[in-house]
Amino acid sequence: MKKTTTNKIAIVTGGGSGLGLAIAHKFVQQNIRTIITGRNEEKLNEAAKELGPLCIPLAFDITNLSIIPQKVKYIADTYGTIDILVNNAGINMKKDLVDVTDEEFQTILQTNVLGVFVITREAAKVMLAQKSGSIINISSMASQYGIPKVIAYTASKSAIEGMTRAMAVELSPSNIRINCIAPGFIETQMSAKALNSDPERKEKVLKRTPMAKLGIPRDVANAAYFFASEESSFVTGTILPVDGGNSIGF
Ligand code: NDP
Repeated sequence: MKKTTTNKIAIVTGGGSGLGLAIAHKFVQQNIRTIITGRNEEKLNEAAKELGPLCIPLAFDITNLSIIPQKVKYIADTYGTIDILVNNAGINMKKDLVDVTDEEFQTILQTNVLGVFVITREAAKVMLAQKSGSIINISSMASQYGIPKVIAYTASKSAIEGMTRAMAVELSPSNIRINCIAPGFIETQMSAKALNSDPERKEKVLKRTPMAKLGIPRDVANAAYFFASEESSFVTGTILPVDGGNSIGF
């Protein structure tokens, strides 16, 4: 039986806030049973309560690599399948190159790259057995051009885009698609705080964005749903900027 979205199971990492929460909201609206993950159990429970019974909170730290296989197995055993994985959890840091410590660089890579790799590998085992799946990675416009003082983050998001292409080619024969969304400036609590406290920077951002506005989380959620759904059934290995034209310049 061909699956409609109504009997699909999704995992959205970092689904308790910001873009992840918007993606989970969109999926639930489309009747996709959505497991949201993150470290903060209370935040996840609140989000799941708000999104209703199709949203299930599951707290774990993605940098704790050894527990990821158990968590993915638990989801597959409990719900019978994993159809969609959104690798959204991520951290950023803005610091002069010369001040970034080895540990800080490592923490960013551990969260944004190794965590993504391990959960994708484990979910791919389930998807390979069922011969279907859609994986959506969230990178950043930081991988398109240099942003000063975000060295580790940029390295991590470029790695995600490279992994997307390599994995897409490898998994295509098994009907597993992997695509990536590269958001520009999206107004989440975190980015709004940073930009509103620095009006000069906000003006600069708006000036260099052809659409002259910030995105909203729903813009990214809509793109994620496109990749998750059958509407994109012949699309894999792509990097989709959702950035108001920022990456094309003007
Ligand atoms: P938020 O800080 O709101 O969300 C990040 C999420 O990741 C949180 O829910 C957090 O949950 C989770 N997370 C962080 N570290 C870990 C960890 N070690 N283990 C498990 N979960 C973790 O940021 P955004 O929503 O803005 O960002 C979401 C993604 O989009 C990120 O990958 C970011 O790089 C990317 N992005 C965002 C842009 C923007 O303008 N907002 C622009 C470009 C890319 P918890 O705290 O519970 O652990």
